[in-house]
Order: sequence, then structure tokens, then C-alpha cells
Amino acid sequence: MDAQLQTLIDLQALDTKIAALEAEQARLPGQIEAIQAAVAQARAGVQTLKAKLDTAKKDTRSKEKDLEDAQVKRQKSEGRLYEVKTNKEYSAVLVEIEEIKQEKAKIEEEILSLMETQELLAVEIRDAEAALKTREAEGQQEEAQIRRRLAAVEVELTGLRGERESVAREVPRDLLADYTKLLRGRGGLAVAQVLAVGADMVCAGCRMTVTPQRLQEVKHQSMLHNCESCGRFLYWLP
Ligand SMILES: [Zn+2]
Repeated sequence: MDAQLQTLIDLQALDTKIAALEAEQARLPGQIEAIQAAVAQARAGVQTLKAKLDTAKKDTRSKEKDLEDAQVKRQKSEGRLYEVKTNKEYSAVLVEIEEIKQEKAKIEEEILSLMETQELLAVEIRDAEAALKTREAEGQQEEAQIRRRLAAVEVELTGLRGERESVAREVPRDLLADYTKLLRGRGGLAVAQVLAVGADMVCAGCRMTVTPQRLQEVKHQSMLHNCESCGRFLYWLP
């Protein structure tokens, strides 16, 4: 095979690896962010439940105060039963006392319901905190794994870039310029294999048929040939 063509094939292999690693390197920080966001969301969920519990406790205290007030009101009314002069007034105070009793019963029911809410919230908080703890531990492990992968990718990239540099030095300046232009303009693929697809011979880059004439030239591999459709350098592996 033509030495220049082989060098271009090697260069393309390195550039393909480098591009894949660079894409991974760009993608990994997003995964870390997603993990951190999930943990933050779980933490916020616990906070929301705790705030709800605080509100329920506050409401309970306020209802207990209402209950005390009603109790005082009732005692006052009961005291008045001995002060009233007429039957009519007496009946009115009895009605008042009955109303206060009903009010107290209502407040007691509300307090009971608030207590139940508190109990339920306490259970929910316990579960949410346990889930948060698990999420945090998993998140830390996952994040550490991603960071290790990121470091490995960096090391691998440094090695490949060094290797690429020395391979690129073997390519004449003009040819390297053509190669680079193709690489940028053709989605990271400047050198394409000729593939047999059914009875057709196609360029692996653009999937267009390679003419028999061009195929013969490429097979001969005494010099560089480009795809007539996309311009990529073509090579043939027997
Ligand atoms: Zn092509």
C-alpha cells in the first residue's frame, strides 16, 4: 500500500478515537450534574416535608390555645348561670354554653386530625431521609466513578494526541491541509474505506457507489484517490 495512504489511514484512526473520547469528555460533566441534581431534589423533598410538619405543629399549638380560650369562655358562661335573673336569660346562657361545647368539640377534632397529620409526616420524613441517604451514597459512588473515567479519558487523550502529532508530521504539509479540511467538513471522516454492499461498491463515508474505474485505481493503491461524490480519500482492504 502507498505509504502516504497508510499514514492517512493511521491518522484517521487516531482522529476517530480522539473525537470519540472528546465527545465522552464533554458528556461526563453533564452526568455528574444530573446526579447532583437528583440528590439536591431528594434533599429539597425532605425540607418540604419538614416545613409541612412545622406548620402542622404550629397549627396544633394554635388550636390548643383556641381550646383553652373556649374552656375559659365556658367557665364564664357557667358562672353566669347563677347570676341571671329570668328563665329567658337562663335559657340564653344554656344555648351559649351548648354553642361553646360544639365549638370545643370541633377544635378537638381538628387537633386530632392535626396530630394524625404529624404522625404521617413523621413517617414520610423518615422514609424520605432514608431515601436521601441512599441517593447520596449512590451519587457519591457514581460521581467518583465518572471522575475516575474523566481522568482516564484525559490520560488517554494526551497519549493519543502525542501519537497523532508524530503521525501527522509524516504527512506532507499540503496533503495534511487537504486531510484537515475534509476532516472538518465531512463530520470527522476524511479517509473512507470502499465497502461491498450487495453487488455495489460504495464509499463508507457517503455511501455513494464507487465507479468501476475508480475502484480499479483505488485497488491499485499506488497513489491517493478521492471519492468522486464526497471527496474523501478512499482505500481498499482486500
Ligand atoms: Zn464518498
